[in-house]
Amino acid sequence: MQGFSTRAIHAGQEPDPTTGAVIGPIHTSSTFAQDGVGGTRGGYEYSRSANPTRTALQECLASLEGGRHAHAFGSGMGATDTLLRILLRPGDHLVIPHDAYGGTFRLVDKVLSGWGVEYTAVDLGDLDALRAALRPTTKVVWCETPTNPLLGIADIAGLAEVAHSGDARLVVDNTFASPYLQTPLALGADVVLHSTTKYIGGHSDVVGGALVTSDDELADRISFTQNSVGSVPGPFDAYLTLRGAKTLAVRMERHSDNAERVAELLAAHPAVSTVLYPGLPEHPGHEVAAKQMRRFGGMVSFLAAGGREAALTICASTKLFTLAESLGGVESLIEHPGQMTHASVAGSMLEVPDSLVRLSVGIEDVDDLLDDLRSALDAASA
Ligand SMILES: *Cc1c(COP(=O)(O)O)cnc(C)c1O
Repeated sequence: MQGFSTRAIHAGQEPDPTTGAVIGPIHTSSTFAQDGVGGTRGGYEYSRSANPTRTALQECLASLEGGRHAHAFGSGMGATDTLLRILLRPGDHLVIPHDAYGGTFRLVDKVLSGWGVEYTAVDLGDLDALRAALRPTTKVVWCETPTNPLLGIADIAGLAEVAHSGDARLVVDNTFASPYLQTPLALGADVVLHSTTKYIGGHSDVVGGALVTSDDELADRISFTQNSVGSVPGPFDAYLTLRGAKTLAVRMERHSDNAERVAELLAAHPAVSTVLYPGLPEHPGHEVAAKQMRRFGGMVSFLAAGGREAALTICASTKLFTLAESLGGVESLIEHPGQMTHASVAGSMLEVPDSLVRLSVGIEDVDDLLDDLRSALDAASA
């Protein structure tokens, strides 16, 4: 198999056969001429069902995750909703991480529960806890690793074994790691989900999602359901995501380099009580992360020693780290999950500590990032 970057740059992307254009055109057409009724050229008839720019992105994503099929969506949540509608029926049960992405929790807790779907939130770092939560009706084990925003680590191969001992499929939300750092299908997962908005797009300029699987039958059901519900990305978005994916490997290396330095700075600063980064040897998931990830990625969270007020001061004091939600872009971001990305879990069992600060460490020059953080942390200790 070709290397990761070769596939990121070439998979699904041949020079245009008519013009030789090295970068494939953005196919804006909503409909496609047929050579006689039913005589489609390459299966394209209407862009909700399939579009050549989307196909190029899908082939690239399938290759990067080592799966047979990928489907690109209008958002990560669109992908999540489409998949869960396929895998769950009223009365079915799913397991979600006890620190699931807030939007995933909201979809399960507020939307799907209205259709009679039941769920249990479990610490997926603990395989016995998962075993105990499984029911005869459990159809899905939904995993994130590393988790958002607490950077917890789950053992993907172990989860697959437990899920498959029952009747459940293992879905891994691989958004935080990206396929460059971790490929869950190779570890036994049935489906990989991405918010391509994050590292795969990588430039904070497009929202998108994806599902990747090697299960042919499931892939057919995803095609059918996606076409039925209409959760598709437009061709411009597919193009931007494909463009971003080409540099994923070099970006992830630099994100990881910078995040390691940031984690060191935080660990040594008195304004920080705990650093949450799987690259640190003292992180409880370090060994599992080292086994299943190439490196540890660009997300770093920490608890401010001075509690909520100090956390808010730090968030308000950085200049280079922009105060904003989302993650995975080239630029560094800082946020307070309790009041921003994870406000939807406030008051639930998924509530996050209010001294928590989350960093998406970008690929700027690391010394500038360290200077910026140091002065913000100093402001909180003053
Ligand atoms: C952002 C995110 C999602 C949702 O994706 P959207 O593209 O925002 O719909 C799902 N999971 C994780 C881990 C995320 O960070």
